[in-house]
Amino acid sequence: IIEDCAQKAEFPVQMVKKFGELGVFGATIPMQYGGGGLDYISYGLMCQEIERGDSGMRSTISVQSSLVMWPILEYGSEVQRLKYLPKLAAGELLGCFGLTEPNHGSDPGSMESTLKKVDGGYLLNGSKSWISNAPLADIAVVWARTEAGRVQGVIVERAMPGFTTPEIKNKWSLRTSITGELVFDQVFIPDSQVLPHAVGLKAPLACLDKARYGIAWGALGAAMDCYEVALDYAKERVQFDKPIAAFQLTQKKLAEMLTEITKGQLLAWRLGTLMNSEKATTAQISMAKRNNVAIALNVAREARQIVGAMGISGTFPIMRHLMNLESVLTYEGTHDIHLLILGAEITGIPAFK
Ligand code: FAD
Repeated sequence: IIEDCAQKAEFPVQMVKKFGELGVFGATIPMQYGGGGLDYISYGLMCQEIERGDSGMRSTISVQSSLVMWPILEYGSEVQRLKYLPKLAAGELLGCFGLTEPNHGSDPGSMESTLKKVDGGYLLNGSKSWISNAPLADIAVVWARTEAGRVQGVIVERAMPGFTTPEIKNKWSLRTSITGELVFDQVFIPDSQVLPHAVGLKAPLACLDKARYGIAWGALGAAMDCYEVALDYAKERVQFDKPIAAFQLTQKKLAEMLTEITKGQLLAWRLGTLMNSEKATTAQISMAKRNNVAIALNVAREARQIVGAMGISGTFPIMRHLMNLESVLTYEGTHDIHLLILGAEITGIPAFK
C-alpha cells in the first residue's frame, strides 16, 4: 500500500492497530505494561525492517515507542503507566511528542510554551510545530516551561478544551506520516497529567536518545531497499549489449553501497549492545544517527543513478526513500547539530553558540 499512500500523501491509519498487533510499539517496554520486553538490538532490527518499507512508518513507531511510551514509563506515575502504556502498545491509542516550536528547533532550551500554576493543575499556553502524528494523536507528551523556569513534561489529551492540532500539508518528504502543530490556548492540565519525574531539559533529550538510536538502524533499512532495487535492476538492464551490472563503474557503486551499509550495521549493533547495558552515551548515539542517515542518503542517490530515468519513477521506491531521508537527516537533531555534539565531546568545547 505504501507507494499509493506516498503518492496521495496519506497516512495509512489502519497500520496503527496492525503495528500494535505485531508488537512493534514499545518493544523495549516491560511486558507488565503491554510492551514487548525485548532488548535494544531487537528494537533496532524492527526499525530497520519497517524503514525498509518506509521512513514515515518507522517514524510512527519511533514516536509511539521512544517519545511517548518511554517517557511515560520513565517519568510517569504508576497510575499514568497503567492508564496509557497498554493501550499505546496495542495501537488503541496514538501518541505524539511536542518539543519543537515554530521559533525553536535546534535550540529547544529556549522554548516559549508555558505552564502556569492554578488550583488543581496548570494552564498550558503556546504552540509546537512539525509534530509527527499530531493531527490524529489521542495524547501528546508536551514540554513547556513552568513559572520557576524549569522544563516540565505533561500528558495532554485530545479532548482537553483549548487544544487543537492543525495539519501541516504540502510535504515532499515523509508523505505517509501525518505531521501537524499542537496549539494550546489556556489548556487546563490537571495535576494528574503532569509527568512527576520529567523535570528539566534533560528529560526530553533522554527520550530523543532512544529515538535517535532507532533511526540509526532505520535509515539502514531504507538504504538496503535502495541497494537491492538497484542490484536487481542492474542485472536486468542491458546497455551496449551487456547488463549494466557487468560494468566496473556499476560494480564500484554496488560494492561501496554494501560496504557502507555493513559498516553502519556494525556501528548500530555495537551501539545496541551498549544500550542494552545502559552504557551508550549521547555522543555515541549522535555518531550513529548522523553517520547512518548520511550514508543512507548517499546509497539512495547512487541507487537512483544506477536505475537511470526509471529511478525517479514511482514504479521504484528509491525516490520516495530519498525524499524521506531528507527529513530523517533533519529531525531528531540535524546532521550539523549531531556534529557539534560530537565536537563538544571530542574537544570539551561546545560550539553551539
Ligand atoms: P533550525 O534549528 O532552524 O536549523 C536550520 C539549520 O540551521 C539546520 O541546518 C541546522 O543544523 C542549522 N543550525 C542551527 N543551529 C546551529 C548551530 N548552533 N550551529 C550550526 N548550525 C546550526 N519535532 C518534535 O518535537 N516532535 C516531532 O514529532 C517532530 N517530527 C518531525 C517530523 C518532520 C517530518 C520534520 C521535518 C520535523 C519534525 N520535528 C519534530 C522537528 C525537528 O526535530 C526539527 O525540524 C529539527 O530539530 C530542526 O529544527 P528546525 O527545523 O527548526 O531547524
